Amino acid sequence: MAKIGFIGLGNMGLPMAKNLAGAGHAVTGFDLAPASLEAAAAAGIATAGSAAEAAEGAEAIVSMLPAGQQVRAVYAGGGGVIAAAEPGALIIDSSTIDVAAAREVNQAAEAAGLEMLDAPVSGGIAGAEAGTLTFMVGGSDRAFDRAKPILEVMGKNVIHAGGPGTGQAAKVCNNMILGISMIALSEAFTLAEALGLGHRKLFEISSKSSGSCWAMLNHLPVPGIVETSAANRDYKPGFSAAMMQKDLKLSQAAADQVGVATPLGAEAAALYTLFVNGGNESLDYSAIVKLIKGQ
Ligand code: NAD
Repeated sequence: MAKIGFIGLGNMGLPMAKNLAGAGHAVTGFDLAPASLEAAAAAGIATAGSAAEAAEGAEAIVSMLPAGQQVRAVYAGGGGVIAAAEPGALIIDSSTIDVAAAREVNQAAEAAGLEMLDAPVSGGIAGAEAGTLTFMVGGSDRAFDRAKPILEVMGKNVIHAGGPGTGQAAKVCNNMILGISMIALSEAFTLAEALGLGHRKLFEISSKSSGSCWAMLNHLPVPGIVETSAANRDYKPGFSAAMMQKDLKLSQAAADQVGVATPLGAEAAALYTLFVNGGNESLDYSAIVKLIKGQ
C-alpha cells in the first residue's frame, strides 16, 4: 500500500480520497477550505497544513482542484508540490483544466525529475463515491503503468489516451460532444411536442433509430421516460450547467489554440453561458431544455 498525498478535498476529491484510504493506502489530504479539511478529518483522513506538507514523503500525489489556475498555484514555484515532492514520486492531476496548463505543469514536473499524468474524470460525484469513475490519462507509458493500480481504486475504466495533455484533450472533446448532444435533444423534443408528437413516442422511435445517442438514453432532458434523467428530479444535478459551461469554454480555448473551427461547440458554449448567467448554474446541464423552450 502506498503513502499518498491528496490535494483538493471538495465534492469530487473527498470521496476519491476516502476510497483510497478505504483500500488501505495511507492518505494525507490538504484543502484550502477549512470546512473541507474538517470533513476529511471526520472521515478518518490525516490532514496536512499545506499542499507541500501533504506531498512530503508521499510515493504518489493526487490532486482534484477547480481549474488550471489552482493547479499551477499548487504545483509550481518554490513552495509548490513539485519542489516538495520526494524524488521518484508520481503526480496525478485529476482536475479538469486547460490542455496548455496541463502540459506546462507536466513539463515543470519532468524538469524536476518527476513523472506526472493528467487524468481527468467522467462520472461525477456519484461515480467518485462509488469508485466507478472513468479516468482519461495523458502521460508516459511508464507513469501510466505506475498509476493504474491507484486509479483502479477510484474508477472502473482507466484509459491511456496518449502523451501529456491528451487526457485533458479527451475530456474536452468528449464533453463538447455531450453538450452539443444535449442541446440537439432539447431542440428535437421541444419541436416534436409542438408538432403533436409526444415525448414518449419520439423516444420510442428515436432511441431505436439513427438519432439515438448516450445523452438520450441516459440523461433525456424531459421527465418520465428515462429513469436516470435529472429531469425526473427537478433537474437536480448530476452534472451541473456550470460544469458543462466550464468544459465547453475549455474546448473553445483548446480549439483556438490549435486553430480548429468548432462552430457547434462555440454555439453550445454561448448557450450554456446564457443559461448559467440567467441564474441556472446549479441546475443539471439537461435543464438547458428550459432555455430552448423559452422558459
Ligand atoms: P469543488 O469546488 O467541490 O472542489 C475543489 C476543492 O479544491 C475545494 O474544496 C477547494 O477549496 C480546493 N482548492 C482550491 N484551490 C486550492 C488550493 N490552491 N489548494 C488546495 N485546495 C484548493 O470542485 P469538484 O466538484 O470537486 O471538482 C474538482 C474538479 O473535478 C474540477 O476540475 C471539475 O471540473 C472536475 N469534475 C467535476 C465533476 C463534478 O461532477 N463535480 C465531474 C467531473 C470532473
